[in-house]
Amino acid sequence: MKKVFIGLGSNLQNPLYQVVSAIEEIKSHNDICLLATSSLYKSRPVGPQDQSDFINAVILIETKLKPENLLNDLQIIEKLHSRVRLKKWGPRTLDLDILMFENIIMKTKKLIIPHPEIINRQFVLMPLLEITHQNFNIPLKGKIKKYI
Ligand code: ADP
Ligand code: MG
Repeated sequence: MKKVFIGLGSNLQNPLYQVVSAIEEIKSHNDICLLATSSLYKSRPVGPQDQSDFINAVILIETKLKPENLLNDLQIIEKLHSRVRLKKWGPRTLDLDILMFENIIMKTKKLIIPHPEIINRQFVLMPLLEITHQNFNIPLKGKIKKYI
């Protein structure tokens, strides 16, 4: 079993509902055990400003799934929430990102772990800090406290 941090975000069609129900769907997956859930955080969008605020959260799960299979199942959940990719950094009903997967480091066409934007996004760092601690180590990047 591997521990995995997942970042959730939404700014369309009742973002609070999108994030809360996505957490419930992840929790009910047969091969996933939910270990921790952060509070819900509200943030201004990155990139184009002519869109609504985001609701973000980070969860910690335990799973025996391989990274590629977990990504696939998370994308199925994104689709369930009728996510359409209109433009880069544009509005989305649900975004599910694999932030860290145990201490794995990988870079393929479909999957980069750890997620390269973790340290640049306070809306990821704050909920991540909430369910870890100041000295928590981000693979390749070092202690979380350097970035907050
Ligand atoms: P972003 O989350 O950066 O706004 P998208 O959600 O549209 O962008 O993701 C586009 C692609 O990013 C996905 O199809 C997926 O293959 C790829 N990707 C690469 N690394 C990751 C990761 N760690 N978690 C989730 N998706 C990833
Ligand atoms: Mg994404």
